[in-house]
Amino acid sequence: MPSPAHTAISGPLSYACERPLAPGTLVRVPLGRSEVLGVVWSCAAQPPANVPAASLRSITADLSGLAPLSAAWRQLVEFTARYYQRGLGEVAVAALPPALRSLDAEQLQRRLQRRAAAAHDTTAAGPRRGTADSEPPPLSAQQQAALAQIDAEPGPFLLFGATGSGKTEVYLRSAQALLERDASAQALVLVPEINLTPQLEARFSARFAPRWGGDAVVSLHSAMTPAQRLRAWLLAHEGRARIVLGTRLAVFASLPRLGLIVVDEEHDPSYRQQEGARYSARDLALYRGRLEQAKVILGSATPSIESWYHSRPGGRYRRIDMPERIGAAPQAQVRRIDMSHQPRGAVLSPPLVEAIAERVRRGEQSLLLLNRRGYAPVLHCPDCGWKSDCPHCSAHQVFHKIDRTLRCHHCGFTQRVPRACPSCGNLDIAALGRGTERLEEHLAERLADVRRPDGQPPRILRIDADSTRAQGALEAALDQVHAGQIDVLVGTQMVAKGHDFRRITLVAAVNPDGALFSSDFRAAERLFALLVQAAGRAGRAGESGPLGQPAPSEMWVQTFHPAHPLFEALRRYDYPAFAESELAERQAAQLPPFGHQALLRAEARSQEAAQAFLTAAAARAQAEIPEYAAGVTLYGAVPQTIARVARVERAQLLVESASRRALQAFLAAWRPWLLELRAQPEHRAVIRWAIDVDPPSI
Ligand code: ADP
Ligand code: ZN
Ligand code: ZN
Repeated sequence: MPSPAHTAISGPLSYACERPLAPGTLVRVPLGRSEVLGVVWSCAAQPPANVPAASLRSITADLSGLAPLSAAWRQLVEFTARYYQRGLGEVAVAALPPALRSLDAEQLQRRLQRRAAAAHDTTAAGPRRGTADSEPPPLSAQQQAALAQIDAEPGPFLLFGATGSGKTEVYLRSAQALLERDASAQALVLVPEINLTPQLEARFSARFAPRWGGDAVVSLHSAMTPAQRLRAWLLAHEGRARIVLGTRLAVFASLPRLGLIVVDEEHDPSYRQQEGARYSARDLALYRGRLEQAKVILGSATPSIESWYHSRPGGRYRRIDMPERIGAAPQAQVRRIDMSHQPRGAVLSPPLVEAIAERVRRGEQSLLLLNRRGYAPVLHCPDCGWKSDCPHCSAHQVFHKIDRTLRCHHCGFTQRVPRACPSCGNLDIAALGRGTERLEEHLAERLADVRRPDGQPPRILRIDADSTRAQGALEAALDQVHAGQIDVLVGTQMVAKGHDFRRITLVAAVNPDGALFSSDFRAAERLFALLVQAAGRAGRAGESGPLGQPAPSEMWVQTFHPAHPLFEALRRYDYPAFAESELAERQAAQLPPFGHQALLRAEARSQEAAQAFLTAAAARAQAEIPEYAAGVTLYGAVPQTIARVARVERAQLLVESASRRALQAFLAAWRPWLLELRAQPEHRAVIRWAIDVDPPSI
């Protein structure tokens, strides 16, 4: 019986139908006063005993023109709902293309017929001739070795390859080998960013369309129109699309003959869905691979600490190293600038400004990287180095501007913000990593007298979420950079990914320190990944230096902590050393992958109401399900890092356990009590609550 999208309904609902329907069949059913899309989960000859036959409503239509969704797909959805503590119907319907929700049986039938006719045409036209583009380059020795290992072993694999080492070529060849071996097999290739899919799609299409037809490669991501998405989804569901390239939502694509899953840049935070069912597409890809016996390749130059841990000898994944860059292009040289030796309050150090000016004069480009992802701000004293540590935890206390408090996100310990540095009395304590708002103007002033080779003043462009909100703005900005019209590009992490800026010879991290002392234990890992990726942008300049020889490129890091192990490891591009030190810290603090976490989040009109709900929820757990609560640690309620959004107050409560199984069992037992609690009149002020399993930050 189908299971519609409604967050309050957790299990399948029962409906009557005239003839037996195969599980996985799409149907339209009445729900309340509306009609919604559903998926048949099971079909019985008799109505279930607990539902009186008279109250059973009938399905409105079955969309059986479409092949039923496979058992594996349903199992993936079931697992997602169970693991991430969401409703089955909610996950199932969210996993389908939105256009399916509004199509009735007749419309769908028409669409399928039109498509069948079109399919016939392409076959009649025959395969297109190959182009020069589709000629694969001869493989490097390490690419060959990687492919041989992927071919010989079941995986999953962690392809640990430097930026520009040719990982994408390995994905292409693995997919090609699969398609050549099996006339109907399909591959799923996940990428983190929508704006990277067109580049990759072009590369895959050039390779595969000549031999396997124009429909062989399709994209699936949220920036497509509903009609485009439906078309791609149907091609995949029918097995005609052989390669699906997509962002996190594509992990739920219906792929009846799935044989290979690639997760490129597997460490990227955008694999995490941030609303509704908060799933990790990377983790689900691994589950799906196991379920469908598809090989899984996770690729990264800076893997997530968890994946690195699982790829240790004897671990769950096989690690494949590709340390060398194609064409022996050198990595950008890392230079650390000790900001404690620079003029006080300087946002850009004089040597860095001079280095940028030099590039402008030579007609080369620079990239200034700002770190402004919402890191929970930690207070520090620039004079003595004091930081707002929690006296009870290994965590730093977070500065909350609204009520001027310092709070530990781990244990909830709260203090007023001190007026002066508690260790040296300096009145000038500040949140780490601030003061970059006016960087662009500041830079323009400092470069005012510098001229480009053509005698013009330098051109500075800023790329961030604000400046590129308009449709096409990002593409236009990137085109300007590619065309060499820009001398200095100022941007957040969004410019560090994937884009090939061939003429950038200097990359500078302006204010990376905030992430070193963030209360978020994954902040350092993200910073390291960001810096390596950004350095990779500069390194590429060497491939086409103006005189055909590698242009020397540099990665500058402005920091108050030049000797920090993270920067030491960065200087040597030594990710393994960085990862080992992170793992040691995580082990000491029992953080993932050594411990497991979930957050209970609540939103209400007031912080008190949100926290009261969480506190009551913890008390219910201790009182009602003590046998499950014994397996976990429940911490105090705290405001979320971004505590207030659109006048809604948000709070969270951390649940930890050394055992994933114990945590899962606890959450499943807790959920009915949370529903019960939410229905109590004293918690009326709670707007919504949710459980976040394996939260990306706490
Ligand atoms: P990664 O995904 O590891 O960053 P890519 O696969 O994008 O690396 O490869 C980097 C560059 O090297 C690309 O321009 C690609 O076309 C080229 N390349 C990859 N493999 C080879 C090869 N075997 N021979 C020549 N060029 C290659
Ligand atoms: Zn604490
Ligand atoms: Zn001090």
